[in-house]
Amino acid sequence: MRALKRYGQNFLVDRNILGCIIRRAELSPDDVILEIGAGHGVLTRAILQEGVKHVHSVEIDERLRPELEALENEYSALNVHWGDAVRFDYDELRPFPNKVVANIPYNITTPLISELLKFSVKGLRYHLYMLQKEAAARIAARPDTKERYPLGVTIEAMGRVVIVRQVPRECFRPVPNVNSVLAEISLDRNFKIACDDLWSKILHEGFRHRRKTLANNLKGIADVLNYGGKRAEDLTLNQWLEIYGAAREKENPPVHQGA
Ligand code: SAM
Repeated sequence: MRALKRYGQNFLVDRNILGCIIRRAELSPDDVILEIGAGHGVLTRAILQEGVKHVHSVEIDERLRPELEALENEYSALNVHWGDAVRFDYDELRPFPNKVVANIPYNITTPLISELLKFSVKGLRYHLYMLQKEAAARIAARPDTKERYPLGVTIEAMGRVVIVRQVPRECFRPVPNVNSVLAEISLDRNFKIACDDLWSKILHEGFRHRRKTLANNLKGIADVLNYGGKRAEDLTLNQWLEIYGAAREKENPPVHQGA
């Protein structure tokens, strides 16, 4: 099968890295796993062999159907769902997953993770991903760095990111022309923020013109808090949360008794 670049098809071939992923995910018989991009099922099979309760795997490339249907016949705990993981209706999954473990196609990293964070309210709170090194750096970026971006701020608000290890290019076939890392996201707070349109609007408008100050990008909100002279990438999480609080109050002013 010819690997397709547009589907980010760089298949994992290194058993040592496969073992690292499985050990890091600390799989248990109660775990319901969501995998994005089953490919030839190498990671899928390794997850199933751990004896987890269920695996849902979403795959877009129909050429993989014969192989993955054979794997489904072998393991009753596996469901392969066919379609685009960015548009998939995760709400429908039964049993509902509590962990994502996936070697994802790098071109969908931001929309995919942004979508999956929304399901933290339903219990999907542990994510272990193979990511392009630069994407992982953006997700884990601290304030005052040029890598800082909206998804990273949201994840910081919801939990923490650990870059588990570097993964050499030779661990994949075909060998990609970018570097990879294994990255872990654990969520334990502020679950509703991932579905909150106002939070997302503030971050996206704040970062829209990176060179401009927040007085430009977030007129009428950032300046009230004296952050007008700053740029989005300078702000700490607490400062973003303050701006969010001010914006919420602006949209829903408190009703004063007797007013
Ligand atoms: N899990 C396999 C492995 O580790 O070898 C395959 C990983 S490969 C990097 C990414 C997989 O995601 C491919 O099988 C590709 O067809 C699939 N894929 C690409 N875009 C997708 C999308 N939008 N939705 C679902 N699957 C996708």
